[in-house]
Amino acid sequence: MVCDTCRDSLEARLDDELTPDEAREIDRHLATCASCSRQFATLTETHRLLSENLMRYAAPDVLKARIRGAIAQAASPRVSVRAAPPWWRQLAAGILIAIASSGVTLTVVDRSRGGTAAAEELLASHVRSLMPGHLTDVVSTEQHTVKPWFNGRVDVSPAVPNLDGAGFPLVGGRADYVRGRVVPVVVYARRQHMINVYAWPSPSAGAASAKDLSRNGYHFVTWRSGGIEYWAVSDLNAAELHTFVATFSAAR
Ligand SMILES: [Zn+2]
Repeated sequence: MVCDTCRDSLEARLDDELTPDEAREIDRHLATCASCSRQFATLTETHRLLSENLMRYAAPDVLKARIRGAIAQAASPRVSVRAAPPWWRQLAAGILIAIASSGVTLTVVDRSRGGTAAAEELLASHVRSLMPGHLTDVVSTEQHTVKPWFNGRVDVSPAVPNLDGAGFPLVGGRADYVRGRVVPVVVYARRQHMINVYAWPSPSAGAASAKDLSRNGYHFVTWRSGGIEYWAVSDLNAAELHTFVATFSAAR
């Protein structure tokens, strides 16, 4: 084999695209030709560096959420309970078991801390929202798109501040059913973490500073502002969730 022929096939050899006979022929040449063998080593190293570095790029939160939203919008007209495939039912059953077991623990924590049973429902809703296609009904990074979307769908108009500058990009919103009513949920992101902000009319007027609960890796922060009770739920660490709530409240 001449070097030119060998070099033309090095890429294919690296990508395992040659027949066994062709590969053996290339390997025999590489074993005896220092020049081609050096070129093959450089090519191999370049491929390795490229693949390692490419692997490190993660999709931004907003892109992921947009993809999820697009999938949800494409899939929703066709989804029905009867048509749900067995894998979906198994997944749903698994999540319900997970929620049921965490719910038991949460009840104990709530009672001991004089907290609220709302956290139980919010945990279930938060976990459900992370299933493919459940996070957002409206996908937008634009507060003037998300806020009006709630008009006529829910009976409170939640704050939808732009928190891009603080590193909490808006992802979108959805209407969810918790505590026996349809409530608005505004969705923000922080790296790979999603933050669901629930809102409903507060039984008492005035503002209240943030209180928090945490369980099973999820954190809950609740506060009251402008006659609305807010709950932020996320698997984000407690310190960053508090920063989020402080930024959200200050932005009103
Ligand atoms: Zn050669």
